Amino acid sequence: MYDKISPPDTGAAIIFQNGKPIVPDNPIIPFIRGDGTGVDIWPATQKVIDEAVATAYGDKRKIHWFKIYAGDEACDRYGTFQYLPQDTLKAIETYGIAIKGPLTTPVGGGIRSLNVALRQINDLYACVRPCRYYPGTPSPHKYPEKVDAIVYRENTEDIYLGIEWPQGSEIAQQLIQFLNSELIPATPEHGKKQIRLDSGIGIKPISKTGSQRLVRRAIQHALSLPQEKQKVTLVHKGNIMKYTEGAFRDWGYELATTEFRPDCVTERESWILTNVENNPEITCEENARLMEPGYDTLPPDKQEKICREVERVLHEIGSSHGEGKWKSKVMVNDRIADSIFQQIQTRPDEYSILATMNLNGDYLSDALTALVGGLGMGPGANIGDNCAIFEATHGTAPKHAGLDRINPGSLILSGVMMLEFMGWNKAADLINKGIGKAITARLVTYDLARLMTPPVEPPLKCSEFAQKIIDNFQ
Ligand code: NAP
Repeated sequence: MYDKISPPDTGAAIIFQNGKPIVPDNPIIPFIRGDGTGVDIWPATQKVIDEAVATAYGDKRKIHWFKIYAGDEACDRYGTFQYLPQDTLKAIETYGIAIKGPLTTPVGGGIRSLNVALRQINDLYACVRPCRYYPGTPSPHKYPEKVDAIVYRENTEDIYLGIEWPQGSEIAQQLIQFLNSELIPATPEHGKKQIRLDSGIGIKPISKTGSQRLVRRAIQHALSLPQEKQKVTLVHKGNIMKYTEGAFRDWGYELATTEFRPDCVTERESWILTNVENNPEITCEENARLMEPGYDTLPPDKQEKICREVERVLHEIGSSHGEGKWKSKVMVNDRIADSIFQQIQTRPDEYSILATMNLNGDYLSDALTALVGGLGMGPGANIGDNCAIFEATHGTAPKHAGLDRINPGSLILSGVMMLEFMGWNKAADLINKGIGKAITARLVTYDLARLMTPPVEPPLKCSEFAQKIIDNFQ
């Protein structure tokens, strides 16, 4: 079945049913060690995960690791430019869940980024990045303990699809001329707009399918959280990009108010219901006026539209969600992308799950991670309906490679996400507890050590930090 690798003799595959993993007690899990600092952080991570599983479940459960190859390590084993061998893809497909260290971006061989390739090949459409604060972690924020958010980033489309042409290329020229002479004039709302001839061109496709499957996972996740965290915020720049980012917001709301109707309330719906709760005699127009500041300055057709919205909401969910029942539903709201960057800093505790398109999510997850310890503490997962890959979100940090000094936190926390995804929460909780206690006791690697007051001297090595996490399980 494989060319240059062999799966473990014992253990069983994880299979997916309806997008959820069915996990045996002895799963085979493929791992990619990773390039650069992968040689440091993977052994540390594997040890922590194995110890946590053994402590939580004794002999009852055990992960059977299956070493597979990607990146520089794959080229060493399989030959030049063999960054992502068929063996590796086959193993991930067969065993469902995998975990990986960072990979060098290839310099040849036709692959732009191994990470993007793995996501696209396996249709891993949801990039999930939790940003959680562990007490004692140095942070530029005054109240970092208020940050506890999970970014659900769409992983397969937006400008990341990579359909673009450079300035001056034949196709870019043809496209611009076609748009300027045919399509733009045929769309009256575009007026006399024209694209400069010396432009590069990139395409930003946002589909209903891609948006709704991402928001679906975000809402499903919210439903598993404690009540006060059951919030999903649709992040977009729909005021400017109406048919891509604005449509993402609209499709998100559509899903929440159809497929998840019994479980969700939108922010606007909650205002309408609250107005009735405060004054049961309120008319639709009074309700609309309270809900929409500036109602009286709107043209009649817009006022009419808001009144119809009030009527519809009260008719459709007045009895199922009214009289405060909406407070036990998942709250779905939306925020403009630029404002959410302010709000995660000024009012971080108001946010729980942030559902975003690809580019916004890339920016936003890094901004949030910076508040809770930076790259060394930012885990990630790429999840699809038949497969999930958990990964350190930082790069290979080559200058630290092989020195046993880098922070393994990102990959260890990705392991925590993996255990939670498998339903092995007891093991995940042990690791969370161990990390929290180690950091509070200032037992940390150089990256956190140098930011602490006073700085920790000497910092722990990568392997020592892993051991301290294990020592602090109990
Ligand atoms: P990088 O590898 O993420 O490292 C940049 C800096 O971030 C490091 O020098 C270090 O800063 C800090 N850092 C990274 N990992 C850390 C950790 N575990 N703990 C503490 N600090 C950490 O970015 P890069 O140097 O731009 O990229 C190097 C290679 O990685 C490139 O080939 C790139 O394409 C690839 N890459 C891969 C992935 C992936 O596989 N997911 C992601 C991004 C980049 P200080 O030295 O200041 O402490």
